Amino acid sequence: MNNRPVTDLKGAGPRLAEKLERLGVHTCEDLLFHLPLRYQDRTRVTPIGGLRPEQTAVIEGKIMAADVVYGRRRSLLVRVGDGTGMISLRFFHFSAGQKASLEPGRAVRAFGETRPGASGLELYHPEYESAAGELAPLEKRLTPVYPATEGVSQPLLRRLVDQTRQAMERDPPRDLMPPSLTGESGLPTLQQALTTLHAPSPDADVEALLAGTHPAIQRLVIEELVAHQLGLLEKRAGQRCYEAPVLDGARLMQQLLDNLPFELTGAQQRVIDEIRTDLGAGEPMLRLVQGDVGSGKTLVAAAAALICIESGYQVALMAPTEVLAEQHLQNFRAWLEPLGLTVVWLAGSLTRKARHEALEAIAEGRAALVVGTHALFQESVTFRQLGLTLIDEQHRFGVHQRLALRDKGRRDQQVAHQLVMTATPIPRTLAMSAYGDLDTSVIDELPPGRKPIETLALPDNRRDEVVERVRRACLDGARVYWVCTLIEESEALQASAAEDSAAALAEALPELAVELVHGRMKPADKARHMERFASGDAQVLVATTVIEVGVDVPEATLMVMENAERLGLAQLHQLRGRVGRGAERSYCVLLYQGPLSETARRRLQVMRETSDGFRIAEEDLRLRGPGEWLGTRQAGDLAFRIVDLLRDEHWLEPARSMAERLRRDHPEAVPELLRRWVRGGEAYAEV
Ligand code: ADP
Ligand code: MG
Repeated sequence: MNNRPVTDLKGAGPRLAEKLERLGVHTCEDLLFHLPLRYQDRTRVTPIGGLRPEQTAVIEGKIMAADVVYGRRRSLLVRVGDGTGMISLRFFHFSAGQKASLEPGRAVRAFGETRPGASGLELYHPEYESAAGELAPLEKRLTPVYPATEGVSQPLLRRLVDQTRQAMERDPPRDLMPPSLTGESGLPTLQQALTTLHAPSPDADVEALLAGTHPAIQRLVIEELVAHQLGLLEKRAGQRCYEAPVLDGARLMQQLLDNLPFELTGAQQRVIDEIRTDLGAGEPMLRLVQGDVGSGKTLVAAAAALICIESGYQVALMAPTEVLAEQHLQNFRAWLEPLGLTVVWLAGSLTRKARHEALEAIAEGRAALVVGTHALFQESVTFRQLGLTLIDEQHRFGVHQRLALRDKGRRDQQVAHQLVMTATPIPRTLAMSAYGDLDTSVIDELPPGRKPIETLALPDNRRDEVVERVRRACLDGARVYWVCTLIEESEALQASAAEDSAAALAEALPELAVELVHGRMKPADKARHMERFASGDAQVLVATTVIEVGVDVPEATLMVMENAERLGLAQLHQLRGRVGRGAERSYCVLLYQGPLSETARRRLQVMRETSDGFRIAEEDLRLRGPGEWLGTRQAGDLAFRIVDLLRDEHWLEPARSMAERLRRDHPEAVPELLRRWVRGGEAYAEV
C-alpha cells in the first residue's frame, strides 16, 4: 500500500495527483506523513440557543425552511432549529444537489463559525451533512486540518487520508526502526503515532501535538533524523569506495613552519596531524576544519597543501569571493614562493592572455597551487594532477557542489582529497546534520597573547563622542578601522557611503591621516591604501565590509561599525575579528540607528556579552533558523518534512548512534528508510 501512487485511492485521478504533488504528496505513504496543521473539535454539539457570535461550533437541528433569497447577493438561506433556538446556514454558491440535500424536514449537522447576519446568527458555507432520518454518529476524534492547496479541499484530503489509514490498519506500514531502538525512548510505534496524529482522541494533548513535542510527532522526528543520518553515512561510505593519492611529504611543511616567526598552537598541530593521517591513507579525505576567527586556519591549509605538493600533486584553493581569494593569494605567495613553488591566480576578472597563461601552467603542472574563485572549476580548467582541493568558507556551498568539486580531480577510481575551512564556527546542530558526511576537526584555541575585545553599543546620536575617542586612540598610537555598512547589496551605494564617512572623518580629524578602501576601487589603489594603513602612515581606515576577510594589522586596536544593527551576527563577529590581533587591548564600538528591532537588539547584546565564535554561532542559529543560516544552497540538503532542527536538537545525537547501529545490525531497513524520508534517497545506495 505504502509505496503505491495516490491514484490507487478511490476518487483520486491523475488531475488530483498533480495537485497533490504541489503538497509533496506522491504516494499513499506521503499522505500518511502529511501532518495536520491544527485540529477542530467536532465531537460535541452546541445548543443553538447558547451560541455566541464568532464561535466555532457543531450544531444539529431540523431544517425548518430553505429559500433562495435575493439580498445584495443571491444566496440559499437554510433555517435550522433545535428547540433551543434558530440559526441560518447561508450559501452563496450552491448546486442543485446541495439544495436537494437541504430540503425542509431533513436533519442537518453543520460546522462553522457563527457571525451576525441579516437573519440573526448565521453560518456561511459551513461544512455540513444531512439525512432524511437519523444523522450519522458524531465524530469521536478530533478533526484534522491539513496544509491544502487549490483544488484540494479539506474534506477531500480527509477522505484520502482516511482511506490510506484504513488500508494501513489492514497492512501496517513497516516499522523500520527496530523496537529495541525506539523502545528505549518510550515512543509509540509508527502506526500508533500516525493514528494519534491524524485522528487524536478528544482528550489528546493538542498543544503538544501542535508544538511538535508530543511523543507521536517525536516518533516520526526520530525516524526522519535517523534516515537523514543514514543518508550521510551512505555518502561517506560512497566516498570511501574511491581511491585517492597517498600524500605524505613532510619536508616542505617543516620548512614553512621553520620560517614562521611563531610556533603552531597545540590545536593547529593536532589538526595538522589529523589531516596528515587522512592524506596518507589512500582514501579520499573529506574533512571540515572549524575554528574561530583568527584561530589560524589558513596556516593549517597551507600545511596540507605542502604535504600534497611535495608528493607531486597540485592543490586548488577556492574561495567564494574574489576579495577573499586575493587575500589567500597574498598569504600563500608569501609562504610558498620562498620554497621555490609557483602559485597561480585564476579568477573571472583575468584578461584573456593572463587566463590562457594560467590555464597552461595548471595543465602542464608548473602551478603547484592555484588560487581562485568558482572560475577554478569550469570545464576548461584541466589539472595535470590534482591531489587536494581546499575550500574556504564552506557554508556557501552545498553537498552537491562539494561532490562536483571532488570530481574535478577524478581519474577512474581516483579522486582528490578535500579540505573545507569555515569562516566562523558552525553550530553543533548543523555540523551534525548539514555536514554529517564530513569528518570534522576543530581548532579550539587562539594563538597566544590575544586579548578579549571590549565591545560596546552606542546609538548613532553619540557619534561625536566616538569620533573623539578615535582621535584620542590615534594620538596614543593606535590604528582604527571605521566600517561602513548598508543593507543594500549594491557595492556602489556602499562605496559612496564609505566615501561620505571618510570625508566627514577627515574633516573632523585634521591631525590624522584617513584612508579609504571599498570594493569599487582598482585593486592597485586598494592595495596602496591598505598598505598606508598597515605601515602606520595612515591611522584611520574607512572601509566597507570588504575588510571582513583576511585583513591583518596587529596594531589596529579600535573598530567602529556604523549601522551595526543591519549586520548579522556572523558578519559582526567576522568583522570584529580584525582587531584584537596584537598585544594591546582592543575595543569595538557598534554604532546603531534606533529604534532597534528585537532581533537587532539581541544581536548587539550577544556581541557585547561574548567573543566566543562557537557561542555566537549558536545564538545566530537560534535567531535566524537553519534555513537562513545555511543559505539556500545548503538548506536544500536539509529540507526536513517533520523535523525542526532547533526544536528537535536533542534527538540528533541519539539519531546518529541509532543510524550507526541500524546500519550494522539491520542493513535491510536502510534502503527503505532512505526511500521513505530522504529526497533522492534511492540514489544513495548506488553512490
Ligand atoms: P583564520 O583564517 O582562522 O581567521 P588566519 O589563518 O587568518 O585565521 O590567522 C590569523 C592570524 O594569526 C594571521 O596573521 C596568522 O599569520 C596568525 N597566526 C596563525 N597561527 C598562529 C600562531 N600559531 N601563532 C601566532 N600567530 C598565528
Ligand atoms: Mg581565514
